[in-house]
Amino acid sequence: MKLKTSWYLTLRMLFLLLCPVLMGQNDPNKKEKNKEHLNVILLIGDGMGLSQINATMLRFGDSLNLTRMKDIGLIRTDSYNKPITDSAAGATAFSIGYKTYNGSIGVDSKGKSRTTIMEDVKKLGYKTGIVCTSSITHATPASFYAHVKHRSFHEEIALQFLESELDFAAGGGLKFFIDRKDGRNLLKENALSKYSISSNFTEPVRVIQDDKKQLFLKANDGLPKVTQGRANFLSNAVNESLRFLNSSDEPFLLMVEGSQIDWGGHSNEIEYIISELKDFDEALGNCLDFAEKNGNTLVIVTADHETGGLTIIGSKYYMNLEYNFSISGSGAHTAALIPVFAYGPQSSTFTGFYDNTGIYSKLRTILIEN
Ligand code: MG
Ligand code: ZN
Repeated sequence: MKLKTSWYLTLRMLFLLLCPVLMGQNDPNKKEKNKEHLNVILLIGDGMGLSQINATMLRFGDSLNLTRMKDIGLIRTDSYNKPITDSAAGATAFSIGYKTYNGSIGVDSKGKSRTTIMEDVKKLGYKTGIVCTSSITHATPASFYAHVKHRSFHEEIALQFLESELDFAAGGGLKFFIDRKDGRNLLKENALSKYSISSNFTEPVRVIQDDKKQLFLKANDGLPKVTQGRANFLSNAVNESLRFLNSSDEPFLLMVEGSQIDWGGHSNEIEYIISELKDFDEALGNCLDFAEKNGNTLVIVTADHETGGLTIIGSKYYMNLEYNFSISGSGAHTAALIPVFAYGPQSSTFTGFYDNTGIYSKLRTILIEN
């Protein structure tokens, strides 16, 4: 009897030990591992509300790449203490998952630095990148790698870029690296020796040294408007970043910002908004083409807030929209609810109605906690 019991126990233990191996093909943990290796492209159209999208669709018909994305949600964008956010608090809600004061970059409402989703996934071995049409030290991109109490601290943000370990960055902002109050030329400093750096404004973004990190500073501050000579900078930089980030075995997290849709809203220029949004949408098209082929890439498009209080009030002719801006100038953001579009694995996670901080928590659940 005693012998029988111990045989039974031994067999049972063997079975329990072998079970996960024998059932390997259906192992739920295996699926979870694939989730960890998901690439994510987060595209932010600064100031891109529904009317901005609507105006661009009326101009270009249904041909916008945005219409390729079938999972849609809505976010509210109020900041910690104001019903109307600025781009710093808006992007910080996405990057750290906390509502904070307007103007804050990567810090919570008490001014405490919180690690960003980019810093979090970096620790898991992800490659990370940012592409924008503003300075790379501007509020939206900075919120993903820097931690400062105010968005105006561009030189401090440039200094923090040195420690960011971003693998790819393309945008403007050269002056904050080389023409500084402290007299330092950051491009010559040791911390940037692992980067291939291009600050030639006329050459397109092109990766030459594959084995280095990439930094492209293509304007002193923000890039020119698309209507004033920026050409296809954004689509091209996005393509180069995708090719570069995808060339290693590690997955990646890329943030792309159409920075100037917002600037057209502040100055109430409908043509500025439409041309910038169309440019942003073309870059999105490249991301969706990549995601379609790759199969393991989640693409999310959203905005930090609406700008200008834009309403389309008539469209007799597609080329001659009738519209109205209800607010202009530096404080021209509104509290309008903002759409979220998602495509690819886990895209349905982004449907429904939630707070802007939900972008962070959903990404965290998908990329880190699973
Ligand atoms: Mg911005
Ligand atoms: Zn703005």
